[in-house]
Amino acid sequence: MADANESARATGIPHWQADCARCSRELSDRLVADGTITWAESLAQPMWVCPLCGNKRCAKASFHGHECDRGDAEVARQQAQAEQDRAEIERRGITRRQLIDERLAAFMAE
Ligand SMILES: [Zn+2]
Ligand SMILES: [Zn+2]
Repeated sequence: MADANESARATGIPHWQADCARCSRELSDRLVADGTITWAESLAQPMWVCPLCGNKRCAKASFHGHECDRGDAEVARQQAQAEQDRAEIERRGITRRQLIDERLAAFMAE
């Protein structure tokens, strides 16, 4: 990840290293502390959604240690989807955020 710092500057947050809002903030705090990004850049936080239910209001979106607070059937379906997503992210060497952005773009184009 030679371009990690460059990407961090471009986006404010190197989101491949975080999986929830809390991790993202902690990560950006560390990057501000070591001078990788500026404090202003650290404010540009991505919108995190729960990897299981996809809901930004889910408890798991704010912190990965929380339980997903959606129904079991939905959780099971989303869990399978999250597995697929993880495989796709690994296979294509992209970030979760890139995958989400692609889907959003496809959705908007419909
Ligand atoms: Zn996390
Ligand atoms: Zn959830």
